Amino acid sequence: MDDEGILYTNAILIDDYQQRHLGDFILGADGSWSSAKGDEDVKERIDGSNRLITRGLQNWHTHLAMQLNARDFSDGAPLNEWLRNSIFPTELRLSRDICRSGVAAAAAEMISTGCSFANDMYHFPEAIGPVLGDAGLRAQVSGPVTTWPPTATGDDEQALRELRNLLSEGPIAGGRVSYGVASHSIYTCSEETLLKGRDLALEFDANLHIHVSETRKEVADCFDAHGMYPIEYLDSLDYFIEGKVNCAHGSWAKKNEMRILAAKSSKMIHCPSSNMKLACGGTLSLPAYLEAGVDVRIGTDGSASNGNGLDVLAEARTAILVQRHDHWNAGELTAAAAFAMATAGSKDWAVWNLNNIRMHPVGRSNNRHIANLIYNGAECLDLWVDGKALRRDGITLTLDEEKVIEELNHAVDDYYREIE
Ligand SMILES: [Zn+2]
Repeated sequence: MDDEGILYTNAILIDDYQQRHLGDFILGADGSWSSAKGDEDVKERIDGSNRLITRGLQNWHTHLAMQLNARDFSDGAPLNEWLRNSIFPTELRLSRDICRSGVAAAAAEMISTGCSFANDMYHFPEAIGPVLGDAGLRAQVSGPVTTWPPTATGDDEQALRELRNLLSEGPIAGGRVSYGVASHSIYTCSEETLLKGRDLALEFDANLHIHVSETRKEVADCFDAHGMYPIEYLDSLDYFIEGKVNCAHGSWAKKNEMRILAAKSSKMIHCPSSNMKLACGGTLSLPAYLEAGVDVRIGTDGSASNGNGLDVLAEARTAILVQRHDHWNAGELTAAAAFAMATAGSKDWAVWNLNNIRMHPVGRSNNRHIANLIYNGAECLDLWVDGKALRRDGITLTLDEEKVIEELNHAVDDYYREIE
């Protein structure tokens, strides 16, 4: 008997292999599930007749506190100009408190859209981790180790010291939130800084997080300086710790670079909305990455560079559209494959409202649920992480949404006071 389980009756459950099951299900606190026999002791019994149960979504490349800059901040500028003239100067005035308000708003948006995990990169990781942990979410929070630009948190030596302290304390929130090292990019890190970040990650068996080959300018500058493409350059520095590096974008990588990532078991994060919003002119070629054997995941990037906030379903839809469009192939990235990519390895459960008009029609054989979710979006009713409800019946329980909204608006007023 599993008295920790949650029983859903008369529901539809999509399993880890995207197979559909109908009936009564027990969701275990450890992420397992089983069909109910009817005599189990359970913690809670929920009528699932209007509910679709799937794994919780995952967002593999975020700058969550950038909710502060959402969503039309500096709209219309290309990446280089946007970073240098808008984002980096603004971030110099960032404080821990303002950052916390942005992350709380991001956590509320994640929970309301069925996402239980974020791989984040931002300043003040020591402020970000506890907010996500208290919200009941899972996260890898990477603190920046960069040469340029200077930040509100000081120079890279200070950032390194603070990050070392954080890493030495280990994961928090019962292991749900761990810390990592963000190198930001090859154009903001000297060779020495990249290696300092790598060594710190090695010392603590932590993950690295870096933007790679996002624009043609980055690739051209790298080739001019080093005679190599960015992933080749990073590999020449021995940056890729086996299984520990999460790269974002990868739009302009060559096939041999993809093979390097596969050989090092590095993940590549597909962020198509960000690439299109910042007019990067291209996004990663999914079939080429998959052929090389790279583990590709989906990320929204920060809200300011994303047209869709932190909605992973919307990002998965965008991934499908752009891959098919780029490759002139309507068979590229099916809805089921995109959903698998957005939930790979998830131990959590998101439960969606089947009474919502966007979930209909369900199809004669009741088989259109994943396509409806991906193409048309859906309302998240419940979200479960480690057997705890972060959201039930469409209401977030671990954060007071009204308070979060009020604090976000106050924080943004403070944050932009000097420039508005
Ligand atoms: Zn990014």
